[in-house]
Amino acid sequence: MSFLNNDKNAEGVDSSVYLTLREERRISRENAKIIKKYEREKNKKKVDEKEYLTEMRDPSNVVEIENLHTYFYTDVGVVKSVNGVSFDIPQGKIVGVVGESGCGKSVTSLSIMQLVPGPTGQIVEGSIRYKASDGKCYEITKMPRDRMLKIRGKDIAMIFQEPMTSLNPVFKIGYQMDEVVLLHEEESTPESAKKKSIEMLKQVGIADPEKVYASYPHELSGGMRQRVMIAMALICNPRLIIADEPTTALDVTIQAQILELLREIKEKINGSIMLITHDLGVIAEMADIVVVMYAGRIIEQGTVKEIFHSPKHPYTIGLMKSRPGRHIKEGEKLYSIKGQVPNPINMPDYCYFYNRCDKAMRVCSQGYPDLIKFSPTHYAACYLYNEDGSEKSAEEKERR
Ligand code: SF4
Repeated sequence: MSFLNNDKNAEGVDSSVYLTLREERRISRENAKIIKKYEREKNKKKVDEKEYLTEMRDPSNVVEIENLHTYFYTDVGVVKSVNGVSFDIPQGKIVGVVGESGCGKSVTSLSIMQLVPGPTGQIVEGSIRYKASDGKCYEITKMPRDRMLKIRGKDIAMIFQEPMTSLNPVFKIGYQMDEVVLLHEEESTPESAKKKSIEMLKQVGIADPEKVYASYPHELSGGMRQRVMIAMALICNPRLIIADEPTTALDVTIQAQILELLREIKEKINGSIMLITHDLGVIAEMADIVVVMYAGRIIEQGTVKEIFHSPKHPYTIGLMKSRPGRHIKEGEKLYSIKGQVPNPINMPDYCYFYNRCDKAMRVCSQGYPDLIKFSPTHYAACYLYNEDGSEKSAEEKERR
């Protein structure tokens, strides 16, 4: 038996929260059919380039994500990890994606890299347009796997959260770095790859690059390993760097150094960064544009100034209030948002924040709110606002 949802009756038990073995089998049979269809598509070889060539909506963007849906087909139901996400990553900008664990930040980035853990994880709908260094625009969701191999790690690089588990412990740093160069640069030789790796280690501030080149990951400190990861990500001059919580595993002083390094490097290569974090301090310091995600959807988006100085969605307002800072009086408890994110298998068909929202109205339980535009760059999905962006009057809120 498995849990299906969190509803309980007066005794605290509800038979609808369980799935029988038969139901589980039925779900997994149905899922297998769906997964097979998606996998067949992905494994196609010799796909004509025309099928995945596309046009960017705005040529100043590196990536345009539109209505992306990435689901996980589990034996207890479908988890809609990313459920209709749309945002752009402009050239030379840092886009910060923020939200609590499980809100879909990392799955969105894995979708861009075509690294969603399969076969259960599948992109089922939407578009990810990418403008490559060769000037062509590719539709990543339709790209065959073998073609994506040429982009991943070269044009789009990723810095993972935990460098100890991302680096292979049985190979020396030099071997792992050289491999990236040899794989992506056809004219490279083992000697030129070594030279480039050492040069890159020097660029990310490693004092003795030759020694680090010849070391195993376990011989380095956490900060050094993260620098190595950054060097590896940058070695082929990517246009887009996806940094998934790059400083979470590091102590505060090293965090500041790594963020500074990322900023310097972004300037140097005029690249774009998608910075995923749950740390609002990091976002405030680094990002140009902020995307706030909640339960697989974007609930607010704007420039860093708009989000930090005039947040609109009650969830974003709650996040801002829960930051430690000078606004907290001595002895006062830090604000925390009550309640929990709904069960991802049984998402409601109304505002996902309804059960946690202090400002919830009747209308909030009658459908999912549309995005309201407050400025050309600022949007939020909430019933508290009129279509022109003004806040509804107290009477209007009462009526609803
Ligand atoms: Fe709160 Fe309603 Fe806005 Fe949802 S739509 S965040 S429940 S006020």
